Amino acid sequence: MALIVQKYGGTSVADPDRVKFVAEHIAKTKRAGNDVVVVVSAPAGMTDDLTHRALKISEMPNPREMDMLLSTGEQISIALTAMALQELGVPAISFTGPQVCIRTDDAHQKARIVDINANKIGKELSDGKVVVIAGFQGIDTHDEITTLGRGGSDTTAVAIAAAIGADVCEIYTDVDGVYTADPRVVPNATKLAKISYDEMLELASLGAKVLHPRSVEVAKIHDVKLAVRSSFNTHIGGTYVVKSEELEKEYAVTGLACDKNVAKVSIFGVEDRPGIAAEVFTALAQEKISVDMIIQSAMVDNLNDIAFTIAKSDSKRAKLILENLKSSLGYREIHVDDNVVKISAVGAGMVGAHGVAARMFAALRDAGVNIDLISTSEVKISVVIAYDDENLKKAMQAIHDAFELENIE
Ligand code: ASP
Ligand code: MG
Repeated sequence: MALIVQKYGGTSVADPDRVKFVAEHIAKTKRAGNDVVVVVSAPAGMTDDLTHRALKISEMPNPREMDMLLSTGEQISIALTAMALQELGVPAISFTGPQVCIRTDDAHQKARIVDINANKIGKELSDGKVVVIAGFQGIDTHDEITTLGRGGSDTTAVAIAAAIGADVCEIYTDVDGVYTADPRVVPNATKLAKISYDEMLELASLGAKVLHPRSVEVAKIHDVKLAVRSSFNTHIGGTYVVKSEELEKEYAVTGLACDKNVAKVSIFGVEDRPGIAAEVFTALAQEKISVDMIIQSAMVDNLNDIAFTIAKSDSKRAKLILENLKSSLGYREIHVDDNVVKISAVGAGMVGAHGVAARMFAALRDAGVNIDLISTSEVKISVVIAYDDENLKKAMQAIHDAFELENIE
């Protein structure tokens, strides 16, 4: 007998039939003698739909009211899931985040969990019930409803697993595990049996959609055993996210991620004097625009070019900010390009290996893909290239082939 947290994403509870299907699997887990806590997301598309409704009323909706609105999606899923379990003869009870005191800070729309009332959950479990809890939402110290940011239900599940000391936190989704690359982009991508927290955190942060980055962070800190599995094919084994010591082998490259939510900003012909970079990036920071990759070209005739990437959603604002600085920066011209994509190769074994970057760049050269920007760290290499579906697929496949990721175990 084990204590298991199961999280079901939006596609897994998209409609009443899906809810019934998922309830069968929960019932089976419970009847096998386990204690089960279930965390659910809003039905697929609902959070988007609610967001669109708000945007029809206000261009910049009040964050508190947004949380009030968006938290309703998950409330639908918990009630329906509990009902479906009861129909199967399984005692179950649903709770919103505030009802089980999922305390967060007060940062609306991007709140962080600080505490969970494990006693209340434990009491219902010892009464023999399956406890169904709404993901993505919590309550701050002023009793205001908060949400954790898009995709935040994963984080709710992991935080609950940590709070109640669950044996495993199973994330059920519409894919059957973590792949070496998105199979829709790289058809021969393979499923990883295991991946380390650090690699998973990088992949999630770099655009792999399968887990919310914060959930991996929380799992790592609290040593929560994480499994990613399919809610459609529950008999198929998924991917375990584990400590790196538990991996048999560290590969130079374990997986690829791509992120289309990137824009490239180029500033051409800016004077080469101290303070230019400080002025550009301070102005952006003041507007809470985070900058990712930065390059400054070698100086020619006392003039530099600076290029960097930001989130696509920030590109219009960034352009305005820089245009307003034209007289003090004295650049020749700026250019904002929304049509780019960032591709990253991640692997814990990169630290000791050599020639990893060279291999990646050679693969892109042979595929005829031009690289715009490069950045590296101990566990990842990222490049920005021009985006169109064909260029992206070509680049991803070339890198996947170069590191023989189709043969990874
Ligand atoms: N329903 C929320 C979203 O769509 C939270 C989640 O699905 O994890 O972002
Ligand atoms: Mg989701």
